[in-house]
Amino acid sequence: MATSLRRSSRILAVSMAAKLVASATKPIRRSTHITSPSADTCARSEDLEDVIDAYAEDYAPKKAKSPRKANTAKEPKVKKSKVVVYNLDEFPARGSSPWKIGPHVSAAGGVENAVLNAASIGATAFALFVKSQRKWTSSPLTAESIATFKSRMLEFGYDAKHVLPHGNYLVNLGNPDDEKREKSYECFLDDLKRLLKIPILLSSCSPGSTVGQVTPEVSLSLIAQCLNRAHKETKNIITVIESMAGAGNVLGSKFSELAKIIQEVEDKARVGVCLDTCHMFVAGYDIRTREGWENTMEEFEREIGIKYLRGMHLNDSKAALGSHKDRHENIGAGCLGLNTFLYILNDSRTKNLPLIMETPAHDVGKSNGRTGEGYEVWRIEIAVLKRLASLSETPDEIQKLDDWADEVRDAIQSKGGVVEATNEAAAKESRQPKKSKMNAAAAAK
Ligand SMILES: [Zn+2]
Repeated sequence: MATSLRRSSRILAVSMAAKLVASATKPIRRSTHITSPSADTCARSEDLEDVIDAYAEDYAPKKAKSPRKANTAKEPKVKKSKVVVYNLDEFPARGSSPWKIGPHVSAAGGVENAVLNAASIGATAFALFVKSQRKWTSSPLTAESIATFKSRMLEFGYDAKHVLPHGNYLVNLGNPDDEKREKSYECFLDDLKRLLKIPILLSSCSPGSTVGQVTPEVSLSLIAQCLNRAHKETKNIITVIESMAGAGNVLGSKFSELAKIIQEVEDKARVGVCLDTCHMFVAGYDIRTREGWENTMEEFEREIGIKYLRGMHLNDSKAALGSHKDRHENIGAGCLGLNTFLYILNDSRTKNLPLIMETPAHDVGKSNGRTGEGYEVWRIEIAVLKRLASLSETPDEIQKLDDWADEVRDAIQSKGGVVEATNEAAAKESRQPKKSKMNAAAAAK
């Protein structure tokens, strides 16, 4: 599996590079490497790691061989400018909606490539890893990567507040073992210091786990202590803790647990929450109906406070309500259905936040390498989500949701992905009763 992923990913990376390089204003130096976006970051992260490693090893910028290598050892090195000017007209229009949407894209080959990957599919927000998410140590960001990331953010018109990087998966700030927690803390702090260099001021991470050795209260306090320490050792970064599915000893599936961490954080301006729709649903928050969404947000306001909402992860769920199984599905193709995302994207509380998809890309690692369409499913999902953000909730308009969900399913299937029949049935079933409720809500307006 990993071998075939690597092989096809390499081909895909070359193909995408060729496609985007061809779209840029000439002349172009091949100093940057466009890489394919990552797959879902939570559900298939091990496969994704293989893909990312393969890119990083094989497509990191390499120094060109000098034809006079043998005689040039003592010549002074002249650092050539690697500025590439892109023709922005060749990239999809992004629109000006206040709801900022995009996937967790790959930063393979350099963090600067995340900006291109996002722009290539019309994303208005994006997430990335600023180092390998499954290694304790990574080489530092290069000065060139930092400079190019900054210039591309300006060039492509992205606002840093719509970028929500994700922290390292190995980190557990709630680990009661002092030595292991310290190792986690150092890795966590390193992520924050990298972000300050680009500079991005939001950093999302999983809260942590008790590892079955202490009570949740003890672990939650340890997490808060780590955040306090990190806030003192860095400036301005806002640490954003993610709501979790709640499998095993993992903390943060209940709003009350996230609230407990925030209560113990000294600098309240430096902490926030990222709500993951898949995690919320499998943790027991039924957000499939407007009533359910409103009740959940009221509970969030009561327990935590809406001012702490700093971002969201928009994922559908393969798993059922309350199952605590963290299995992401494409938008509208899972147990939530498109209605959930309609409520979120018609809610002023989610305006101007990074709304990040961590959904399966399907054709990453599966493409035959000739099409260069490793972004297709995400491109469709972004388009559908943007439409939801501008949809008025009238009965006529809401009729469109079934067609749009089919559009996402067709994209998945066209890339060899499978939409599980049970999910489809569950999603359709969940849409039916909601239509009548929404009609009533629309009529009452
Ligand atoms: Zn998430």
